[in-house]
Amino acid sequence: MRKLAAGNWKMNGTAAALAEAKALIDAQPNPACDMLLCPPATLLAAMAEMARGTALRIGAQDCHAAASGAHTGDLSAPMLADAGATHVILGHSERRADHGETDAQVAAKAKAAQAAGLIAIVCLGETESQRDAGATLAVIGAQLQGSVPAGSTAANLVIAYEPVWAIGTGRTPTQAQIAEVHAFLRARLTDLIGAEAATVRLLYGGSVKPGNAAEIFALPHVDGALVGGASLKAADFAPIVAALSAA
Ligand code: PEP
Repeated sequence: MRKLAAGNWKMNGTAAALAEAKALIDAQPNPACDMLLCPPATLLAAMAEMARGTALRIGAQDCHAAASGAHTGDLSAPMLADAGATHVILGHSERRADHGETDAQVAAKAKAAQAAGLIAIVCLGETESQRDAGATLAVIGAQLQGSVPAGSTAANLVIAYEPVWAIGTGRTPTQAQIAEVHAFLRARLTDLIGAEAATVRLLYGGSVKPGNAAEIFALPHVDGALVGGASLKAADFAPIVAALSAA
């Protein structure tokens, strides 16, 4: 399995930020893992064009479940593929919170993404109050079951475990907590899609930085990371890619 270092730029970056993607390619021209940046949609085509022929892959941060139609402001999976995306992040906790996205909607989007030839990066994770209530595995199991569409394979699905309370906070779960959830995800995914689950990449996300990446990547069933803040600068993201390449 080739591991995956994915960067989520969220709603950050104008054309000048393309220089950071170029610097990342220069710093990591041939990583021993897959390397992905997901810029805002306004930069997708330009970044894909700049990355053509390099190791950098480009992803989007959301898509609509329909291929086309009267959905003002939305973008479809075929449009993202046409712009040069190979991946799309779906069901990020910020979209679940800001836009009320449900597991069923995430599954429909993932199905559309896969049909368009994109790799769906399906995000899930518990809130702090859910963890405090001892409900972490129940919450994550339900999100997994509800958000992963039938027909998912290791080639078209990535799962990102992102505890909501660890995103953008500088706080991370303990190594034991990450390992527990990732082992649980592998087992539940096997129940859902069978033996194929063994090679689905399971990413950890939430305050991954150059300083903590190596210890997280050493954990069993951690096949990479989804990185927010530390993906915005090549100087931060390149060492994370290097740590994953060495894991
Ligand atoms: C994210 O939003 O996917 C994320 C993991 O953010 P950060 O790395 O900034 O915590």
